Amino acid sequence: MTQAPRPLVAGNWKMNGMKAALSEIAAIRDAVAAGRAGRAQVLVCPPVSLIFGAAAACAGSALAIGGQDCHFAASGAHTGDISAEMLADAGATFVIVGHSERRADHGESNELVRAKAQAGLRAGLGVIVCVGETRAEREAGRAEAVVGAQLAGSLPDTSGAMVIAYEPVWAIGTGLTPTASDVAAMHAFIRAQLLHLLPASGAGLRILYGGSVKPGNAGELMGIANVDGALVGGASLTCQDFMGIAGVYR
Ligand code: PEP
Repeated sequence: MTQAPRPLVAGNWKMNGMKAALSEIAAIRDAVAAGRAGRAQVLVCPPVSLIFGAAAACAGSALAIGGQDCHFAASGAHTGDISAEMLADAGATFVIVGHSERRADHGESNELVRAKAQAGLRAGLGVIVCVGETRAEREAGRAEAVVGAQLAGSLPDTSGAMVIAYEPVWAIGTGLTPTASDVAAMHAFIRAQLLHLLPASGAGLRILYGGSVKPGNAGELMGIANVDGALVGGASLTCQDFMGIAGVYR
């Protein structure tokens, strides 16, 4: 029988946070050191402007720092982009790829997300690959078909240090969440797909739930089978809310 993986509670700060917000990251670091996240691994992905400072502040601590995106190339003529190698050089140990806001705002395809995931693994980063259906797709009964196609198209064909984040697009930043039974069904479906796509590692990969996770609903969501942690947007911006979520693993 496979042992349950260590939970991961990851914060996605999106395009939020000036230098002053480094004090919030220091507060999260100290809360993790004080045991407030229990057995969970905790990660904050601030905007790229804060990665170096955040990683320096968290060096030697249990709080990991990650990027929100990367280019698939290691370097070159790609104005405004950042490579996975640069993120690692700045002190990041994770990168998020394929977030629905990148898929929608930047037209990122599954193929591109896969190349970015491969780049993250090449740079030695833990890679969080995001998948999730829109409201229209769920209402049309296509949620599993969409997520299945995203997994098949976005996951590198390797047993690297990957994490899957299931984030229904309609639940992100809306205060809406799927029912516990819908989350359970989708996470079981994702686990089955992982076992099929990555037989050597699929059983042990963490599957995070993301979409309006708050301190008030984290206990229920994190208690669902095959939910191995959370990817948190808005509620990761303050130490108090973020620890209110990670604290379910105490
Ligand atoms: C996200 O952006 O990944 C997210 C889950 O956002 P929120 O928690 O704010 O819904």
